[in-house]
Amino acid sequence: MPADATPDLHLESLGDDIRRHILSNLGNDIYPPDPFRYFTGLAYAIRDRLIRMWLATQATYYDTMSKRVYYLSMEFLPGRFLMNYVTNMGLEDGCRKTAEALGYRLEDLAEEERDAGLGNGGLGRLASCYMDSIATMRIPGYGYGILYDYGLFHQTIVGGWQEERADNWRRHGSPWVIDRVEHLYEVRFNGKSEAYHDDKGNLRYRWVDADTVMAMPCDILIPGHDGKHVTNMRLWAAASSQGFSLRDFNQGDFVGAMQAKILSENISKVLYPNDEPVAGKELRLKQQYFLVAATLRDILRRHKKSGPSFDAFADQVAIQLNDTHPTIAVAELMRILVDEEFLPWEEAWDICRRTFAYTNHTVLPEALETWPLDLMGRVLPRHVEIIAEIDRRFQEEIRAKYPGDEGKIWRMAIIDRGSSRVRMANLAIVGSHAVNGVAKLHSDILREKVFPDFDAFYPGKFTNVTNGITPRRWLLQANPALSRLITDRIGPDWVTELTRLTELIPLAEDPDFRKAWRDAKRENKKRLARYVLRKIGLGINPGSLFDVQVKRMHEYKRQLLNVLHAVTLYNRLRRDPSLPVPPRTILIGGKAAPGYFMAKRIIRLITAVAETINADNAMKGRLRMLFLPNYCVSQAEKVIPAADLSQQISTAGMEASGTGNMKFALNGALTIGTLDGANIEIMQEVGADNIFIFGLTAPEVEAARAGGLDPRRRVADDPELAEALDMIGRGYFVPNEPDLFAPIVDNLLGHGDYYCITADYRPCIEAQDRVNALYLDPEAWTRTSILNTANMGYFSSDRAVMEYARNIWRIAPLGE
Ligand SMILES: *Cc1c(COP(=O)(O)O)cnc(C)c1O
Repeated sequence: MPADATPDLHLESLGDDIRRHILSNLGNDIYPPDPFRYFTGLAYAIRDRLIRMWLATQATYYDTMSKRVYYLSMEFLPGRFLMNYVTNMGLEDGCRKTAEALGYRLEDLAEEERDAGLGNGGLGRLASCYMDSIATMRIPGYGYGILYDYGLFHQTIVGGWQEERADNWRRHGSPWVIDRVEHLYEVRFNGKSEAYHDDKGNLRYRWVDADTVMAMPCDILIPGHDGKHVTNMRLWAAASSQGFSLRDFNQGDFVGAMQAKILSENISKVLYPNDEPVAGKELRLKQQYFLVAATLRDILRRHKKSGPSFDAFADQVAIQLNDTHPTIAVAELMRILVDEEFLPWEEAWDICRRTFAYTNHTVLPEALETWPLDLMGRVLPRHVEIIAEIDRRFQEEIRAKYPGDEGKIWRMAIIDRGSSRVRMANLAIVGSHAVNGVAKLHSDILREKVFPDFDAFYPGKFTNVTNGITPRRWLLQANPALSRLITDRIGPDWVTELTRLTELIPLAEDPDFRKAWRDAKRENKKRLARYVLRKIGLGINPGSLFDVQVKRMHEYKRQLLNVLHAVTLYNRLRRDPSLPVPPRTILIGGKAAPGYFMAKRIIRLITAVAETINADNAMKGRLRMLFLPNYCVSQAEKVIPAADLSQQISTAGMEASGTGNMKFALNGALTIGTLDGANIEIMQEVGADNIFIFGLTAPEVEAARAGGLDPRRRVADDPELAEALDMIGRGYFVPNEPDLFAPIVDNLLGHGDYYCITADYRPCIEAQDRVNALYLDPEAWTRTSILNTANMGYFSSDRAVMEYARNIWRIAPLGE
């Protein structure tokens, strides 16, 4: 698109547009002024401008007939949109002035927006970072997901315990969502598969007697940085199928018809919280197929605009499966090509394999998805036949390559004969041309430990793409103080070329620059202190070391190890009030899956320890601890820029990559962490001297588990650990309920300490001692902080997305 065709953004009419939208769209008066109304008016005014840019982008797709990528994900975690649109479209100054003329600060209007929390955590947030980079890098592509009515639950803390509230995020409307009511697709479930002979006498199959539900596309536009390229995230919402309800209605059963309508709309009602086995939950399988069926219909509709042939399909279409959740797409594309387009099986299979690629996100055994064959057969009768045929042909291939090795077939088969379950990861691997892990260590573990048979069978299919994060949201937008300072010194190009941050390296030696760096951090810490006071009524000191661990609550992420350090520090300070350590504020936040007993109990432990510490007058000015409720993207944007220390302390070998670790280091927090996931690559980039690494490595964890960890001996040998565990186990922090935390301690001492907390305790404490020593030297700490930010360029999601585009999707970015 030539530069002069850039749509005019008409900033001068922004104020009028906001008023007009308040009156016409909201049917509301502009008086009395209400910030939510003004937020909504501004959102619609910006959306108008964005739509113009989007139409221009679409024209370039069709002009160039370029190959496109479809990023399929059951989760997206975009958070709020307003400030992201405003910064990416370059509207910040204009919006700020307009808002002020209307009597508001832009930041305050932005606070009115509800987060779109359509994901659990890292996986969904990654998808959203990739959307931002796909748009910014001008890669022709779309995101496809589900528009849940209810996102991940809202977390509150009541009496120290987590409570969950439904997240009805669209209750007051969502101005960014464009409903495309004119493009409904029908999605089928249940019924049966039927064989028949066509006119020419060929044996064919069709899916009959199915129930149907309609999928309505709802689009959210994603502008890249500079706004000239706009990508679409298409989220499907379930609507009742007309034919279905009318039939019952005609028989006079109005309420019955309504019931069917309500049941079918349930499909996109709520996001499943993870960390719970989803297997056996029919609704979850329906959600997965709903996303896949509607998306493939859309892809085929678009493909057929260029003609009926499928010869070039895989040269025009790349489909990325974000974890196994959308893997039923392999069977669905086969069904369409064979049953509806009448392609020969071999031809259809070749197209499938050249089209799909699969990203694995976890090696936790409980998260490797399988579905009972009988359940799947009820919901998707034709798909289980297709999967069985894929499996049969695959087993023939294995047999040909490894004659007589039935053990191999047993392990690699798609349908597990022992349990009669479909192994979705196996289907994804067999049906794709590329399989990637999300950090070097994780990809190695996939090849060597989880899927060694597949790696040997398909040489070169397994690869790595280390995760990344978008610098637009996670530095430019979330940390205006720091990004202003950076841009002042090295110019603005880092925003789209993050490795430019290395130009900050020499400035780490400049005392004036270090002072300015500290000032920016201090501003962010004050902002967070105000937020914490507002949110939970606790005052925290911006002069203290902000020690932060925010992420989902999970035993492998080891919030418990963090607590053991907190208790140890507390004990040391009680014994010696003049201990030469900096004052510290320990912040922990994260949601526990509603059914995860141990994670919820650990939240209760955190709130109990925090309450004890904060009530102890001797800790005043020395140690504060708090649990921040409802960790989400918009909260992360406030917390991360204010952190001095980032806790990334998972049991080595268990965190696939992590992206929180990247957000913190990019914002100048120092990492204390294990050699796990992307921490290893962060260490390589920022230098081993500029990160606090401790603990067992992944092979050491494996060896320790095999040999028995002997947690009791470790506790007996370490008086500080023994003291801390004793206090927790005997109810020191909850005198009224002395047995409350016995299960936590019992898990360590009585059940083998699977997560190696006792093994890593002493190394963790020693690393924290090094943290304290460095923090007492502000110039040295600041220098390290600058060197962290300066060396984080590799972790831009722009780099990650370009690797996918080049090596997996084989798509070149559009030219200017
Ligand atoms: C980045 C992010 C995550 C992932 O954090 P990890 O530390 O990598 O587990 C989870 N939730 C939110 C809201 C995030 O922004």
